Amino acid sequence: MVYFLGNKLTERCGVLSNLKHYIDELIKGNSFFTAKLICKYCIYVLSGLHFLNAMLFLCAGNFVLLSVHLIAAALIITTLTPMIDKDSLISVYLITLTEIIAMVFFSTLTVGWDSGFHSYLISAVSTAFYFTYVNQKEKKKNHSLPLMLSLIVILCYFIDFALMKYIDPIFPVKKEFWLVVLNVFNTACAFAIMIVFSYLFVWEIQSKSNELTRQNEKLDELAHKDPLTRLLNRRCMNEILNERMELLKRSGKRFTMVLGDIDDFKRVNDTYGHDAGDLVLVTVANTILSTVGKDDAVCRWGGEEILILVQEPMETAATTAERIRRNIEEKDIVFEDKMIRITMTFGIAESIPGYRIEHLIQQADDKLYYGKKHGKNQVVFLMAPDEEII
Ligand code: GH3
Ligand code: MG
Ligand code: MG
Repeated sequence: MVYFLGNKLTERCGVLSNLKHYIDELIKGNSFFTAKLICKYCIYVLSGLHFLNAMLFLCAGNFVLLSVHLIAAALIITTLTPMIDKDSLISVYLITLTEIIAMVFFSTLTVGWDSGFHSYLISAVSTAFYFTYVNQKEKKKNHSLPLMLSLIVILCYFIDFALMKYIDPIFPVKKEFWLVVLNVFNTACAFAIMIVFSYLFVWEIQSKSNELTRQNEKLDELAHKDPLTRLLNRRCMNEILNERMELLKRSGKRFTMVLGDIDDFKRVNDTYGHDAGDLVLVTVANTILSTVGKDDAVCRWGGEEILILVQEPMETAATTAERIRRNIEEKDIVFEDKMIRITMTFGIAESIPGYRIEHLIQQADDKLYYGKKHGKNQVVFLMAPDEEII
């Protein structure tokens, strides 16, 4: 028994936390319900409203309206649900709106303006905006449709109002109490519909905006990052270098370029395969990223060449490069149970005001080449004068 109760309690808590999660996600604009599902729920709610009105008319002793509302509830469920299943959502909405207008006219003409049915016409405006926005195809969206539908609904409201000035109700509700109940019930429901659909409309826009942000982030990543290593790509680095050069000219803030190349990388590919080579590249990228400062920029400059922009003068940057070199040298890279060890050579060039970026990169490349020629696995920031390559 205790076990059973415990289970029930956990289940209840689970449902509650799920509900909270759904509400949180809804507020953030994340979608759980498709337009089709929302449409189906709306149809159930609409027939539910007809059913409740039928019950009120039963209490009020008005059997004509009791029957009409019961028939309407049944017709809505039987005819519209199959249409929703066939994805004819806009048609379902237009039929529903027509049904609401017809029912408002019929109900007010038969039981009078004070029954509160006319309020549904006001709330129909928010549904017109929501359903046409959600259910029209993105490229074929007709933005004047909700406006047109709203105008029709408002026109109907005033026609109904004018008619009621001249026509007496055909089957008036005899007991004043039930007329008040009908009025309060229908007005409250109409307000609730207006609030729910206004909220759903905002949520739909929020959800579209979230989707757009996600797509922009993806595009941004594609435009700026190398897909294998997730390092910045060459184009993005060129932009950063230009900005840094401008800053150097304006404020004299120096920076250093460190160009690195994996030693004997061809041999890694030849011995362990291309996938192992890729894993080495990713590991090198991550090791560099975890070693440099958060303001430094790291880019995949070429195949296995990596360019690092260190926001420090040459001496400090040389220490950073040396730390990177050592971290890479000490890294155990495991590929299919095989251990791969690699080293890397670096050339360093400090920014000089007035120099062109290409010239600075050439300097770093020359020092890298010098390092390759003189034993690899080292950081070169000075070359012997006789070895200098201009
Ligand atoms: P060195 O020490 O002189 O640099 O010798 P190395 O063998 O590293 O020579 P090099 O720098 O010219 O080698 C570049 C190799 O990198 C050639 C190419 O097959 C490989 N490579 C370039 N891009 C990729 C990649 O994305 N994945 C893999 N697995 N290999 C790549
Ligand atoms: Mg190499
Ligand atoms: Mg190379």
